[in-house]
Amino acid sequence: MIPEEVISDIKHATDIVQVVSETVQLKKTGSNFAGLCPFHSEKTPSFTVSPTKQIYYCFGCGAGGSVFNFVMKRDGLTFPETVRALGRRCGIEVPERALSAEEKEKIGAREKIFLANRLAADFFSQTLKGGQGSGALAYLHNRGITDETIEKFGLGFAPDSWDAVSGCLSSHRVPVDIAVGSGLLIAKETGRYYDRFRNRIVFPIFDTAMQVSGFGGRVMDDALPKYLNSPETPVYHKARSLYGLHAAREGIRQSGTAFVVEGYFDALALHQHGIAQAAATLGTALTRDHVRLLSRCGAERFVLVFDSDGAGIRAALRSVPVFQKEYMTAKVLVLPTGHDPDSFVREAGADAFLELADKAMDLLEFLMDAAIRRHGLSVEGRLKVLGDMREPLLAMEDRVARSLYIRVLADKVGIDEGAVSEKIHKAPAANVRPQVAEPWQDAPVKSLDRIKEENSLEFQIVSMLVRYAGIHAYCRDVGIADYFQEPGLKEICSLALAYDGPPEAMTDWFLTNLREEGQRELVARLAIDEFPVIHQRCVTLIDQYVRNRNRLGDDLSKRIRDAEARGDHELLLSLLEEKRRFSQDLKRRQH
Ligand SMILES: [Zn+2]
Repeated sequence: MIPEEVISDIKHATDIVQVVSETVQLKKTGSNFAGLCPFHSEKTPSFTVSPTKQIYYCFGCGAGGSVFNFVMKRDGLTFPETVRALGRRCGIEVPERALSAEEKEKIGAREKIFLANRLAADFFSQTLKGGQGSGALAYLHNRGITDETIEKFGLGFAPDSWDAVSGCLSSHRVPVDIAVGSGLLIAKETGRYYDRFRNRIVFPIFDTAMQVSGFGGRVMDDALPKYLNSPETPVYHKARSLYGLHAAREGIRQSGTAFVVEGYFDALALHQHGIAQAAATLGTALTRDHVRLLSRCGAERFVLVFDSDGAGIRAALRSVPVFQKEYMTAKVLVLPTGHDPDSFVREAGADAFLELADKAMDLLEFLMDAAIRRHGLSVEGRLKVLGDMREPLLAMEDRVARSLYIRVLADKVGIDEGAVSEKIHKAPAANVRPQVAEPWQDAPVKSLDRIKEENSLEFQIVSMLVRYAGIHAYCRDVGIADYFQEPGLKEICSLALAYDGPPEAMTDWFLTNLREEGQRELVARLAIDEFPVIHQRCVTLIDQYVRNRNRLGDDLSKRIRDAEARGDHELLLSLLEEKRRFSQDLKRRQH
């Protein structure tokens, strides 16, 4: 761990404009600098750097934060690595601080889980090669998996036993709480334990540092569940893990392309056939973290590989906003009927697969064609197609791209482009808000039309607290943080009210203390624009919010009396529960 004062020294000795200038050509615009964003591709600069606040924010993709956040994101470093890198730059040496007992324990637990996983992976691998694993080995060979692949991916076998893994771990003196914490053992209510993985082929899941973070297990017959994965643990999160990524990194970097498949065997088969840029999601929809992970490995193009069934359409539909939010595009490769990537590549070979990948369809076009296949091109069918495409098209924030897709869709369904556009845009989507100034501000706010919750008074109060320290005392007096409902905003609010330094160092306070990247980006966005704030309007807004929340309590009491009078017991019970929760809030407020 690095001492706080060293971090602070390095921060003060570093100029964000200089650091950013190493990769981004910046131009002065008013009091800020602007340039082309290094985190998404764009033609007009929306990446803004404030020299006075020492922060950056991109109005295109929403990336933002301090100079530390910038270097972490740009160079893919951890926080301590970033501090050391910037320390070297300004000649400040970074000493190591001794860890506190709590920190040691936390790091210790993670390391112990990695160790338990490693021991179990070796055990599974040995078992596969020994007599007990002969059936499993035959099964793998039968599915076309070579010994080389088995070795490279560390495949193993969990014997048909309730205590084989637990025996192995205890012989290596792994504490029981670690074995349970790793997900390898399951605790029974009686205080005893048993193995999670039994009579299954086992696939170790590696993180990018080549450590075993978790396991997947597959049965060899029709037993259920067919696949079983490690639960979420301190070192394994399925929304942030991809199977085979450790082996795919180099291939992705070289080709700039990532193939995303759905199953273990799909990933293995592609790798075995020389298509080394494939990774599998682990029984979950593709997440933004997955996309970020892959793009950090160098992926610029994404190809989602689906079997030809309806599950592919659902997964594709879900991934549209994921790619949109990361400013990435994706293609969809649908295999011929009856094939999955594994069977296809074994039968037709790698070249045939890559040929199909070259012809892979754009994600949106894939959805259009699927909708047309589903509904047909009758009058009614075409209207349904437009209805199906409305949400994915509106999810596109890039208006130029959206209008291009509308043209494609108009072409496909044979309807005039203007009419299609009107149909898509007709009823305004719930999350699109016209650009208007905050009521407490003098000037309009750029690009604040993003999230639905931003309409709320809580959001407005937070954006006021971040920009204007002059209102903090008033907010503290009315105890405003206790009224907040949205946990993320509540945290920013409490942090603002705990601040007592000079106004110019306030942004830094938020960026240092907020743990969530989304929260830091929000603060950077709010802080980078300076508008004159009108104190009295702030006060009005806060009073209005407090009144609203209190009125909710009065209203509840009235509804309870009504329900009582009418003898509606079911309603009465639920209202009383609501009231109980509300008064708990209130009590907390008074302490
Ligand atoms: Zn950007």
